[in-house]
Amino acid sequence: MASWLDGKVVENRRLNDYLTALIVDVDLGGYEAGQFVRIGLRDGDEVLARPYSLVNTPQEPHLEVYFNIVEDGPLSPRLFDLRAGDDVVVSSNPSGFLTVSEVPDCKHLWMIATGTGIGPFLAILKSEPAWQRFEKVILCYSVSYGVELAYQELIAGFGAEHGDRFHFVPVVTREPHPSALGKRVPLLMQDGSLEQHAGLSINADDSHVMMCGSSNMITDVSTELVSREMKKHRRRDPGHFTTEKYH
Ligand SMILES: Cc1cc2nc3c(=O)[nH]c(=O)nc-3n(C[C@H](O)[C@H](O)[C@H](O)COP(=O)(O)OP(=O)(O)OC[C@H]3O[C@@H](n4cnc5c(N)ncnc54)[C@H](O)[C@@H]3O)c2cc1C
Repeated sequence: MASWLDGKVVENRRLNDYLTALIVDVDLGGYEAGQFVRIGLRDGDEVLARPYSLVNTPQEPHLEVYFNIVEDGPLSPRLFDLRAGDDVVVSSNPSGFLTVSEVPDCKHLWMIATGTGIGPFLAILKSEPAWQRFEKVILCYSVSYGVELAYQELIAGFGAEHGDRFHFVPVVTREPHPSALGKRVPLLMQDGSLEQHAGLSINADDSHVMMCGSSNMITDVSTELVSREMKKHRRRDPGHFTTEKYH
């Protein structure tokens, strides 16, 4: 059972009135890029906590989580209102299998995120192992509105550092957006435009696909992958895709 570590908010870096990155100072032990912790607030003797993926790497000094307000959700609106100096608690046991060490050997690593599901992929892209293990890394980042495309400078930096080994596919589904594809990711796979944009195919011979975010996207993309003779990865039964559902 996890114990709670006491942490302090260093910064609440708001992107708009429903998306923010919370930076937390806490003494967390070892973990892998892509894992998540539970973050919460004390209510008397009780703790109200939810899982959040870490955007930071283990080498960075502070924890960073990126999230949206869920209206009527018990915790996310309260976390959104925190300010520098406020107290939070953080679970002492980072967990999760959305990590590069869980991915079997392959040539191309595809990462598909919806919304705040971008977080763990940023941590992975900031870390060395992804660049040591795969010839090409493709990041597909799907949001509803262009203003929700966060961390654009960081993502541009991966391109500047890794050249044509990195390919970024932004997707904006609810309004036209320059340079972004405009349909839900499962449709972009079915009509071939995702792979056309990247100049690579997604197949069982050389690809592994990581997905993070909404269960609708994950279910529909998984169905498409299964139709391509790809299967969900398990430690005891290696496969071609790994998933983390936020909701
Ligand atoms: C392993 C894991 C990692 C997660 N990491 C993140 C993260 O890095 N960033 C992040 O924003 N969320 C993340 N989540 C979701 C997060 O834990 C909370 O559920 C979310 O912040 C809402 O909390 P809440 O207490 O306000 O509402 P909850 O009681 O948790 O949820 C209320 C309702 O909202 C749905 N919901 C949960 N998250 C969302 C969302 N993002 N958008 C729309 N509906 C949602 C739930 O399915 C539920 O029906 C993660 C979830 C899991 C399981």
